[in-house]
Amino acid sequence: MPKFYVTTPIFYMNGKPHLGHAYAVTIADVLARWHRLKGDDTFFLTGTDEHGEKVEKKAIEEGLSPQEHVDRLSENFRQAWKKLNISNSDFIRTTEKRHEDAVKHFVKLMHDNGDIYEGVYEGWYCTPDETFIPESQLIDGKCPECGREVKKLKEATYYFRLSRYQDKLLEYYSENPDFILPRKRTSEIVNRIKEGLKDLSMTRPSVRWGIQFPFNEKHTVYVWVDALINYLSALGWPGSEPKYWPADVHLVGKDIMWFHSVIWPAMLMSAGFKPPKSVLVHGHYIVEGKKMSKSLGNVTDPLELTDKYSVDALRYFFVREFPLGDDGDFSEQLLKARNNNELASDLGNLIYRVLTLTEKFEGKLEGRPELEKSLELQTFQDEMDRCDTYRALETLWRFIKASNKYINDTKPWELKGEELSNALYNSVEACRIISILISPFMPETAEKIGKQLGIPLGRLEDCRFSEINYLPKKGAPLFTRVD
Ligand SMILES: [Zn+2]
Repeated sequence: MPKFYVTTPIFYMNGKPHLGHAYAVTIADVLARWHRLKGDDTFFLTGTDEHGEKVEKKAIEEGLSPQEHVDRLSENFRQAWKKLNISNSDFIRTTEKRHEDAVKHFVKLMHDNGDIYEGVYEGWYCTPDETFIPESQLIDGKCPECGREVKKLKEATYYFRLSRYQDKLLEYYSENPDFILPRKRTSEIVNRIKEGLKDLSMTRPSVRWGIQFPFNEKHTVYVWVDALINYLSALGWPGSEPKYWPADVHLVGKDIMWFHSVIWPAMLMSAGFKPPKSVLVHGHYIVEGKKMSKSLGNVTDPLELTDKYSVDALRYFFVREFPLGDDGDFSEQLLKARNNNELASDLGNLIYRVLTLTEKFEGKLEGRPELEKSLELQTFQDEMDRCDTYRALETLWRFIKASNKYINDTKPWELKGEELSNALYNSVEACRIISILISPFMPETAEKIGKQLGIPLGRLEDCRFSEINYLPKKGAPLFTRVD
């Protein structure tokens, strides 16, 4: 059985889940559900990144121990994903013992390979981003990523010999052109590497809230090195073989692409593991021209939106509004338009009309599969397999529109006998197949359609016109218009 291992970034504990987090975790969920629908042995991981200087500071401010602080924050994420119908197989927290053991073992493997040495780090550090920043990258003396103040560090550290992996990384990218997706992002990384890879400071002597460095108890492992190893520790390694490794897809935001496509593969090579198969880079939400972030105060609470719309409407919006990899706008107006025009009108109306007509029909639904030619199943599959969820949903929507048109054209309400049976047969079969293909995106809606048709939700191989015994029973409309 083919396997599929997909991950989200583990989210850093500095607040509540926001729209950007919900976006990433939903896209990963869509991919995981798609692979389960295909019958692949699927593992879907998300979790929380809980160490570092910033977390410790914040806990002190709140009058809590760092552990109490992260327990509270991490639980918010767990609850939010439950509400958004996220089907993760595991939820890893970097303060768990299983993770700590894995990090220590991983670091030992890097050390045994001669890739760790002692030195001094002198340079700039952005605490909110927990990143070391070379002087050349500062913008007006501030962090190039978030625009905030950076501080000068001069401290003892242990370095990872990242420079040793420069050629191996370049070779890996050229042998695996789909390693960084979308492909167009590869050149950005390659060019930066060609400028020369510097060794990475991988321990901090001044940070207590972290995993102890196994070769010097006065140091903790740099929070990014610690965090990346979650993708292995969640698989039960080093206690057992990580059977899902290498990961098929690490879904990440473009701001952390460097860590995932350069530092992480180099760390893996150093410790004797294969690099992941792909790093899928998504864009960010833009609100009035600015990236959504806590420090800018323009964060939208995804859970509030699901109270007004539905969980599935929000999930649909995430995939449908802009192509994966691009930045996109968020506004409630846009969400409302998708909900009303596409979900309530196109899809909701289709199901409602078909059920109204078939409920009244007596006898067996039989006919010629006329509508099947509008179903671009292979195109849909190919798009899903290359993680192009945006285009796949577009392809599926063409079929939904074609089905609506078919009903308008055949006018079943004017037909009788065999012709009526034929028109209804085609319409109902279309609805059944739509319920299957839409299930990765909108699992609750898929279940509802199945229930109204009186059939259990099918699998991918059931997506062809066939003979099914339906027991149609119309329920409430699938989506409500919001005015
Ligand atoms: Zn920063």
